[in-house]
Amino acid sequence: MEEKITVDGLTFVPYLKRDEIAAQVKRVAEEIRHDLQGASPLFICVLNGAFMFAADLIREIGMNDSKITFVKYSSYEGTSSTGTVKEIIGLKEDIRGRDVVIIEDIVDTGLTAVKMVEDLKKRNPHSIRFATLLHKPESSKTGFQPDYVAFAIPPKFIIGYGLDLDGKVRNLKDIYVIREEE
Ligand code: 5GP
Repeated sequence: MEEKITVDGLTFVPYLKRDEIAAQVKRVAEEIRHDLQGASPLFICVLNGAFMFAADLIREIGMNDSKITFVKYSSYEGTSSTGTVKEIIGLKEDIRGRDVVIIEDIVDTGLTAVKMVEDLKKRNPHSIRFATLLHKPESSKTGFQPDYVAFAIPPKFIIGYGLDLDGKVRNLKDIYVIREEE
């Protein structure tokens, strides 16, 4: 794996390698498959950051009767939360009576997650579950607890494997963390 990288003048160091990510994605996939035996779930991938996690996760879950759709929310500019959560692209599917699994890249304050779950509940699904690649429990402003977490991490800024810095570096196969002051 390559060592530190610099993006927009910020330095990042390797944090979670692709093999560790794959192992945790597999574990989460097994948990979801177990919990949703016999169901035909609708996976809702939260764009943009969760696209890579969702692609790997649904392939690991391997339920041919499941469907996947995409929504988009935005609360981040640069490396700090604006504190506001806006829906950009809404959900077109009818989720009434369905088993829904939200797939998110990272739960930070939890504001996006709480808003999503509130919005989806109004549409009367049979169940809502929340899967996230990363969870920063110490950053929580809501107490939101995801049902499935690949990695619980400290409150540091992360990039790679779908997560961006101002739209860049989503392509990285490994996850990097911002380097602390030296
Ligand atoms: P929350 O609403 O939980 O505060 O923030 C959720 C969203 O903030 C995530 O879906 C993600 O887009 C963004 N976010 C939070 N922490 C990070 C981070 O460390 N790196 C990146 N790239 N995005 C983050």
